[in-house]
Amino acid sequence: MSIIFSGIQPSGNLTLGNYLGALRNFTKVQHDNECYYCVVNQHAITVPQDPKLLHQRTRELAAIYLAAGLDPEKATLFVQSEVPEHAQLGWIMTTLSYVGELERMTQYKDKASKRGDSIPAGLLTYPPLMAADILLYQTNYVPVGDDQKQHMEITRDLAQRFNRLYGEVFTIPQILLGHDGTRVMSLQEPTKKMSKSDDNTTATIYLLDNPKDIEKKIKRAQTDSENTVRYDIDCQPGISNLIEILSAVTDKTHEEIEAAYAGKGYGVFKKDVADAVISVLEPIQNRYQELVGDPELDRILDAGAAKAHAKASVTYEKVCQAMGLFRK
Ligand code: ATP
Ligand code: MG
Repeated sequence: MSIIFSGIQPSGNLTLGNYLGALRNFTKVQHDNECYYCVVNQHAITVPQDPKLLHQRTRELAAIYLAAGLDPEKATLFVQSEVPEHAQLGWIMTTLSYVGELERMTQYKDKASKRGDSIPAGLLTYPPLMAADILLYQTNYVPVGDDQKQHMEITRDLAQRFNRLYGEVFTIPQILLGHDGTRVMSLQEPTKKMSKSDDNTTATIYLLDNPKDIEKKIKRAQTDSENTVRYDIDCQPGISNLIEILSAVTDKTHEEIEAAYAGKGYGVFKKDVADAVISVLEPIQNRYQELVGDPELDRILDAGAAKAHAKASVTYEKVCQAMGLFRK
């Protein structure tokens, strides 16, 4: 039995990328492992958020976790800000980080470049907070999307750095990529990843989009004039992205998909991609509608926070002892 931790930010409506890259894998591993899944609202505030919307999205995201199949009897589901050790260890991890290594993170560069002269410092110190999230639970595996590889590397570096300086406190975690590391790209700019904080809603398939919208967005997805369904990221990034999506939702290989659509046009292919995505998302959407207003959600999150706190406080205490952050 391994310990698993992962989180998703309530920074927007969840996307197909979040589902295929991360959420789907959370439920797969919950049966045989000790799992902690978190709504990372303190990560979301690394860019400005509307308080009312953040509050609402926090609950909605918790309901989506459950709708996607997370079983609260098996996995611990909780909200980051309700377990204070995340911010406390986050600060300690910040003190161990070097500005240079944080500035090299591509997520920081991408997100900072949209903020003009007012770059929130939290964008830079996002990775040490993420490291704290993971290390507090003595995590072995972290199921995240391929875009988080760099942050996972820095998490491992920070854990090793701490252990070297202060003694063996942290388990060194490993990334757990699902389905060969699916990275879903924007439907309109297929060289950029699909993100829930993208303003261009036509570029993004949301988990709660109705079937008509999903079909429309996939139909209008940017492609090319080759009219050949072929996986070639450099020359046909749009079509390759749709192949990747179909492959992830049907478990077929790229080659099988290419063979099935040989000689057929993009119209037929896109319709099938849309149908396949809809059939995966519809059951999640139905369960979500039942769960989101259910007071049971609060009971689950309260119990989750208590369980997470019990585990996190043990590690945090060890950290304080090791560093001399105590009086008596
Ligand atoms: P934001 O734009 O606010 O950063 P996001 O869509 O990147 O939102 P996160 O909350 O940062 O979502 O990430 C949640 C999980 O989803 C992470 O494990 C991340 O690796 C994964 N993920 C995000 N986008 C994609 C994508 N396009 N393809 C695959 N996985 C993804
Ligand atoms: Mg992200």
